[in-house]
Amino acid sequence: MNAKRPLIAVLTGAGISTDSGIPDYRGPNGLWRREPDAEKLVTIGPYLADPEIRRRSWLMRAEAGALAAEPNAGHRALVGLERSGLPVRVLTQNVDGLHQRAGQTPRKVLELHGTAREVQCTRCRAVSTMAEALARVAAGEPDPACRACGAVLRPRTVMFGEELDPDLLQQADTIARACDLFIAVGTSLQVFPVAALPFNAVRTGARLIVVNAEPTPFDEAAEEVVREPISAALPALVRRLVARYV
Ligand code: ZN
Repeated sequence: MNAKRPLIAVLTGAGISTDSGIPDYRGPNGLWRREPDAEKLVTIGPYLADPEIRRRSWLMRAEAGALAAEPNAGHRALVGLERSGLPVRVLTQNVDGLHQRAGQTPRKVLELHGTAREVQCTRCRAVSTMAEALARVAAGEPDPACRACGAVLRPRTVMFGEELDPDLLQQADTIARACDLFIAVGTSLQVFPVAALPFNAVRTGARLIVVNAEPTPFDEAAEEVVREPISAALPALVRRLVARYV
């Protein structure tokens, strides 16, 4: 119908992955609120300082089983949006890698909070897989160290007490300002700097669609707010967008 193909930016948060069995640790009923002590397991200071915190942190990751999680209909809908030929960029607060596993082009996914599928040495910066680190934990190493230099390994996620990568944030901001349609999915939009993305998108003329179970501060600025479960709402929304623009 519309000749102009809009650049679509999709910001995703924990809500898109809950149907894949990944809990929203930071949400209203999240682990970090129920067990404040557990927050130390993902806070950089205690993590680096205390082998016991690291031991518990690795165990938590092993028990959470996040590496075994599968993408759901919400992730697959966004893959369908990209494959329709529309220019799509995914900006995600999630560290689960499920967008890429579902088939989204990796270079078109910006992982603003890093990835929990990889670990990195805190000294020599060597990168290896979380799967390998957890296999070492399962084999009896409570706090697996870097195989190259022996220093502490950490997940490649942004931990509490750390800043988001400024270059990545800049790229995300550029996309937000350039896009014609900004879709925020499963994110409360209450935490800056990520909340600046929809703000700047709207300020520079983009339309905004919010898909989230709870109200967000941006609902009034949105042309459409969808409250249904995301894995049902997103396929329907994508079908409408494809019918309209492709
Ligand atoms: Zn190392």
